Amino acid sequence: MKFNPIRGTHDLFGEELQKFNLIQSEVNSLAKKFNFDEIQTPIFEKTELFQKPLGEQSDVVLKEMYTFSDRNDDLITLRPEYTTPMIRAAISNNLLVKLPCKFFGIGPMFRRERPQKGRYRQFNQINFENLGCNDSFADVELILIANNLLNNLIQKKDFKLHINSLGNKKTLQFYKKELIHYFNKHKHSLSKESIEKIKTNPLRILDSKNKIDQAIVSKAPSIYDFFTNEDSKIYEEVKKLLNNFDIKYVEDSSLVRGLDYYCNTVFEFKTQSLGSQNTLIGGGRYDGLVKVLGGNDIPGVGWAAGIERISMLMKLKKNINNVIHFAIQNENFKTHALKAYKYLTESNFSVYWNYKFNLKKSLSKSNESNARYIIIVGEEEYKLKKYTLKNLQDGNQSILNFSELLNKIKNG
Ligand code: AMP
Repeated sequence: MKFNPIRGTHDLFGEELQKFNLIQSEVNSLAKKFNFDEIQTPIFEKTELFQKPLGEQSDVVLKEMYTFSDRNDDLITLRPEYTTPMIRAAISNNLLVKLPCKFFGIGPMFRRERPQKGRYRQFNQINFENLGCNDSFADVELILIANNLLNNLIQKKDFKLHINSLGNKKTLQFYKKELIHYFNKHKHSLSKESIEKIKTNPLRILDSKNKIDQAIVSKAPSIYDFFTNEDSKIYEEVKKLLNNFDIKYVEDSSLVRGLDYYCNTVFEFKTQSLGSQNTLIGGGRYDGLVKVLGGNDIPGVGWAAGIERISMLMKLKKNINNVIHFAIQNENFKTHALKAYKYLTESNFSVYWNYKFNLKKSLSKSNESNARYIIIVGEEEYKLKKYTLKNLQDGNQSILNFSELLNKIKNG
């Protein structure tokens, strides 16, 4: 019997794993630079943790969560997102003492979506969260970090920041009522999926990709008409700060985000290079969420990035590695070559032994592998008790004893 990974999951190795590790180290250095502390949470949590905060009617809760009952009948869910578990962890461990608190995390998430390019059932996210701060600079600081992350990993032409504001919770409630009223009036011209969302999640009709909906959506009431003065002031401040940091953005009134907990600032970094799964990073403000999860009534803002989607846009530089290969003329010189192998590993160099005794084949295989050096051992080296070190990048070679070998490898 042959086993393959389960649909929507994938193994990580080779270049993909290299990219994954590069992203992770970039995240770690940004977290250090902007002073965010790492939190790691368990992969499964009580189902209730997600149901209410994400919205009973959100797609994630309705259709996508991997939920199972434990042997004692507790309902358990594989985490579909990281914001709620991170806040849960901050509350459980009494971390929310000196506010604001800034946290980040990296790890696998699970959603039972229909797999396609850029969409998996197990995927990896990076999250950055700021808890306990009302200042709009907290929103913009997070956008700045996300912008840095993408700038350092992919090409500028491959992403664009979209922003919007949903107003405060009351504004949003009021707006949702108006939307329900409007969409009910035009029910006959909407797609089946959108009709289903009128009562449960009317905001999501605004970002419907279905062409049937677009004419009705384009004439729908705008959230901006419901803004209080304070809502407008906050949104203007966010835009001003983005300008101060020279971060380019487009205002996108159809940007509503999928989950229930957002208010005021929402943003997404989108790409046109990946087909329909075009959001790389999404986030926004979620004042009130900490309270819903049993903490104090403090504000919050954060984002989540999809590692697989960023990775698909990354190009790896051809890396010359410093592994030292061996090419041995025939088996008679094995012991002499192994002496160098022993000496080099004891001196903390990285080596690669190919178990073959064929100069030509070993040289050509090592050339393909991007190694910098190869040690050649044959009759002459054996007689002289030396080794030929060849630099595979520039073709130079010289015959050396142990200490000359070390010096050459160390100093180039
Ligand atoms: P969300 O929590 O839905 O806002 O997702 C945040 C980010 O995670 C998205 O912008 C994607 O980059 C990534 N993401 C979400 N769902 C998936 C998925 N099923 N497969 C791969 N990446 C995903």
